[in-house]
Amino acid sequence: MNKLKVSEIFLSIQGEGTEQGEPTIFIRLFGCNYRCKWCDTKYAMEGNDYREMTLDEIIEEISLYDYCENVQITGGEPLIQDIDGLVERLTLKDKIIWINTNGSIDFKHFIKGFYGKDCRIMMDIKTPSSGMAERTNWNNLKYLRTIDQVLFVIATEEDYIFAKNISKIIEAFSSVKVLFSPAFSISGFKPVLTPAVISSKIIEDKLKVRLSIQIHKIIWDKNKRKV
Ligand code: SF4
Repeated sequence: MNKLKVSEIFLSIQGEGTEQGEPTIFIRLFGCNYRCKWCDTKYAMEGNDYREMTLDEIIEEISLYDYCENVQITGGEPLIQDIDGLVERLTLKDKIIWINTNGSIDFKHFIKGFYGKDCRIMMDIKTPSSGMAERTNWNNLKYLRTIDQVLFVIATEEDYIFAKNISKIIEAFSSVKVLFSPAFSISGFKPVLTPAVISSKIIEDKLKVRLSIQIHKIIWDKNKRKV
């Protein structure tokens, strides 16, 4: 029976992106093919703090929050595991499914979804300060639709210029929403650009992007899990 490595399952407020503030069920899968310098979910990719769960067990656990229609499959990097069965089961439960991916693995397959129902993609493009920017699968950009979103975490001037240049390329051929998310400091990493500086730059450069501050890190302790 297909089992998935699961870091945590919880109900919280969506902290980032276009659905910010909406109650959402998070299924955080374990494991990642990246090692971003400012990763804030290292517990979901290092060590062995995970459960191996069947699809029945996952569906039973999220049934605790059945009233909530939004589900985000996140990580780690969720696409390194075979999530087809999970997506199919969530589709049958009529959930609005978001897949939060670093964009390194081709996700065309999920654009079509199951039973004619779309999955929505949050493509988290890694900027230079992550140390992983060269690993993005740029082919994925052509699949993105208006219902999807692209997010850049920005910590440095170099990150901002990188995000600006790519957002202009995206704007030329796609109506996908683009978000700039100021990085938060974590142990061993301190961002150079503040949200105020990034906001001023967006306005000065006349960018058609949206600032997205991770509200879950403001509402709760930024190191708290399951938020
Ligand atoms: S892709 Fe996400 S989970 Fe993986 S190392 Fe980077 S920030 Fe962490």
